[in-house]
Amino acid sequence: MNGLMMDSGLSIASIITHAERVNGDTEIVSVTRDNPRHRYNYRDAFARTRQLANVMARWNLDQGERIATLAWNDYRHFETYYAASCSGYVCHTVNPRLFPEQLVYIINHAEDQYVLLDPDFVPLVEGLAGECPTVKGWIVLTSEAHMPETSLANVHCYETLLANESEQFDWPQLDENAACALCYTSGTTGNPKGVLYSHRSTLLHAYATMMPDAMGLSARDVVMPIVPMFHVNAWGNPYSCPIAGAKLVFPGNKMGDGETLAALINEEGVTMSAGVPTVWLGLIAHLKTTGKQVESLDRIIVGGAACPLSIMEDLDTYGVQTRVGWGMTEMSPLGSVNTSPASREDYSDEAFAKVRLKAGRPIFGVEMKIVDDEGNDLPWDGVAFGSLKVRGPWVCSSYYKLEDSDAHEGDGWFETGDVATIDPQGYMAITDRTKDVIKSGGEWISSIEVENVATDHPKVAEAAVIGHFHPRWSERPLLIVVRGPGGEDLSAEEMLAWFDGKIAKWWTPEAVEFVDELPHTATGKLQKVALREQFKDFSFPE
Ligand code: AMP
Repeated sequence: MNGLMMDSGLSIASIITHAERVNGDTEIVSVTRDNPRHRYNYRDAFARTRQLANVMARWNLDQGERIATLAWNDYRHFETYYAASCSGYVCHTVNPRLFPEQLVYIINHAEDQYVLLDPDFVPLVEGLAGECPTVKGWIVLTSEAHMPETSLANVHCYETLLANESEQFDWPQLDENAACALCYTSGTTGNPKGVLYSHRSTLLHAYATMMPDAMGLSARDVVMPIVPMFHVNAWGNPYSCPIAGAKLVFPGNKMGDGETLAALINEEGVTMSAGVPTVWLGLIAHLKTTGKQVESLDRIIVGGAACPLSIMEDLDTYGVQTRVGWGMTEMSPLGSVNTSPASREDYSDEAFAKVRLKAGRPIFGVEMKIVDDEGNDLPWDGVAFGSLKVRGPWVCSSYYKLEDSDAHEGDGWFETGDVATIDPQGYMAITDRTKDVIKSGGEWISSIEVENVATDHPKVAEAAVIGHFHPRWSERPLLIVVRGPGGEDLSAEEMLAWFDGKIAKWWTPEAVEFVDELPHTATGKLQKVALREQFKDFSFPE
């Protein structure tokens, strides 16, 4: 017998209706090139979103066609998210930090019809527009007075397009499984892969991120997403904040500028923020040098990469709680968050440090398991480690126009490529990535843990560990180090001695090489594949 409840589909347009009626006066503050502190509210934002939808309707696109953005976190990007998705098109957020060849690949693969871009990216686009035949027009996200000189053809000014449009627009009824957004994940190997979100997955993910032990969002929050809107929809904040009624503060192209971040936090009363570890280093450095505080800031979500303990301990001194989050582009992205069911005050310093570094417990809606090489489930004992698999309604079931990916084995689980332990309380800890794994004499070595110890050395700026052929053990870890300021005299002997007593002896790198810089992907992740290629002719000393 079925329940007798309404079968209302989940749609992003419902966020507009709700936020306008209930949270209409709540502000959105943005840093843009034409206004360092633009300020309006959700009511204004969604009126303009309908103006933009009227512009898009003139483009005569079919439902499901892709409209791309190359933009920072700001209110015009926010309007584009909603106008494109709620009109039945797919908002394809392109990462401007990718290399030009990757941008061309992605725009062509997605067959983007129009691209809305920040003025900062006009020179970038001028260099590649000729190779993007599907794009019919380039819309610069600025006002007429700030339109840059450009050689681009079919270029328009965003504000000019909106100026005479009606604020009325009837959103079409869309199937909840209709695609709403597309984001390519750069990965470390091969071409970027497209993850295609649906209205349903996006709404469910937004609900989940708001839960108290996730981001814990309420109408009393002021949220500053530092994580880019071109990187997994800024972890859902553009959807969750209007639902919760939280004020949004968008840092524009200043997300790496500690001074601007501190000013925004203090002047706008930011309570919650989200970003990758690197961005907090800039904020902490600014606070340390100026002696400023960030009193309103209650908590931050740090994800995308392992968060060093030093960041958490620095933020402790400013009264900011760090919540480690783990997820993936393929997971919308949130999978787990590290909060505690009980106070951690009675933990020893060591126990507290150990548990807070973990990637956290799965949020309701995401199922996890760890498996061995044969696919057998491993116990949640905090010791056994294996490939981490996930499933749930906001986990991708396949990649866009790429049917046979080995991450989807047909068993309903998604292979994350991460290696993890899960303890009896459900705390998952990433110990490595399968693509980076080092198997020495048949046993796993966690390259991340070895890297963490190496980067703790005061003379080290950055370090990477790769598995390298060894005649006896098949593979041994090779440590590659970028010396830091004052570390010019750091020798291989001193570096290797640093590991004594800190990790298992057999985990200690077999050798050390020094380089000036390490290769990174456009999203800042270490490119281990490039490093392996760079060191392919290296031989361990006898
Ligand atoms: P992306 O799709 O670019 O967000 O990258 C997802 C990957 O980033 C994951 O599969 C992990 O390898 C890594 N990652 C994300 N969050 C964390 C975390 N808290 N700790 C360690 N690695 C993480």
